[in-house]
Amino acid sequence: MSLIVQKFGGSSVADAESIKRVARRIVATKAQGHDVVVAVSAMGDTTDELIELARSVTESPDPREMDMLLTTGERISMALLAMAIKALGVDARSYTGSQAGMMTDSHHGAARIVDVSPDRLREALDEGAIAIVAGFQGFNRDSKDITTLGRGGSDTTAVALAAALNADVCEIYTDVDGVFTADPRVVSKAHKVDVVTFEEMLELAAAGAKVLHIRAVEYARRHGVTLHVRSSFADKEGTLVVATRGENMEEPIITGVAGDLSEGKITVVGVPDIPGKAAEIFTIVAGTGANIDMIVQNVSAAVSGLTDISFTLPKTDGDKTLAALREAQSTVGFADLAYDDNIGKLSVVGGGMRTNAGVSAQLFTALFEAGINMDMISTSEIRISVITRGEDLNRAVSAVHTAFGLDGEVEAIVYAGTGR
Ligand code: ADP
Ligand code: ASP
Ligand code: MG
Repeated sequence: MSLIVQKFGGSSVADAESIKRVARRIVATKAQGHDVVVAVSAMGDTTDELIELARSVTESPDPREMDMLLTTGERISMALLAMAIKALGVDARSYTGSQAGMMTDSHHGAARIVDVSPDRLREALDEGAIAIVAGFQGFNRDSKDITTLGRGGSDTTAVALAAALNADVCEIYTDVDGVFTADPRVVSKAHKVDVVTFEEMLELAAAGAKVLHIRAVEYARRHGVTLHVRSSFADKEGTLVVATRGENMEEPIITGVAGDLSEGKITVVGVPDIPGKAAEIFTIVAGTGANIDMIVQNVSAAVSGLTDISFTLPKTDGDKTLAALREAQSTVGFADLAYDDNIGKLSVVGGGMRTNAGVSAQLFTALFEAGINMDMISTSEIRISVITRGEDLNRAVSAVHTAFGLDGEVEAIVYAGTGR
């Protein structure tokens, strides 16, 4: 007998009918003789709606109260799912993150898991029940407060449970058939890949392919959890995330193309080109807790001895970072600050890039032929990212997908969801 952890995302449990459909699927797994633990997300776009509700009460909601509010979403779906399973004649019990032993640090809104003690889940399994766990939430022992793991964090809940319970597989059920060569909502000719490596999936997730939460991928890699991303709407094999491809499986040069509209760009204008200034600027930025991504320093103009430094960061970190820099303007001695919140980041990712020259040339040619201008460029061993105008991003992703020969024969299916 094996133990399977199944995670169902918001679009898979968007309404009562969907919850009943998911319940039947879970019961079918149990009927095959497996122990089943389920992690579930809030119904549909509930989390977004709760965030909007909070913002309509105050512009800057208190982080502790925000977590109290957002965790209610998953409590609704977990209880309804347990009820639906019981109605099918199978025992099921729902647990909040804290009841499931999901211990985190105290960082509201972005808590990290520090320990998982799933004693109550084991008890439920031993008694033949299905355990349903509220995704995306945990508990901090010191503050005794409820926390959330960050948007998309239910994937990480599932993987952490799979690791703690030594599950045979962690199945991530979603509204598409698996991991595709691009977001099927953007590129209709994207095709599903059967296998992707942890390394590639980490780069894709970091580049904006939200099909898996990046921390879930990191966690799975570290703990050797087998991940299977698949559709909750169809009975098909999805995508396996593995440590390495089989010996006979050739590494594709490009595994996928990702787009990201969540970042903005800050330019610090007229920075004195002397040692220590970049250190000063980025120490201030680090102090805000902002997660910076790409950095570009322009060549300084010989006459003035001044340079510009640009960097990208999540739009959600934009305001606080600008405020912190503005406050230090006279000490650092830069001339001005500019903020551009209409940028898009396109990334191509593939393990085979390491051993193939000319990928950058092909990428830049494809963008040039599509008439798309690039602003910044950054690379890792297996990824190249470029910044475009926000409105050009989707067109750029499609053009690059075609140029690298990734277009599939048939149209990709998107079963549900609003893509929020
Ligand atoms: P869930 O609610 O199940 O967690 P998400 O919305 O978080 O689902 O993630 C699934 C969505 O991720 C898909 O509907 C798709 O639009 C998007 N996506 C982005 N990039 C990719 C990709 N490369 N492969 C598959 N889906 C992708
Ligand atoms: N409900 C949370 C969110 O929308 C967590 C998740 O679905 O993974 O971000
Ligand atoms: Mg998700």
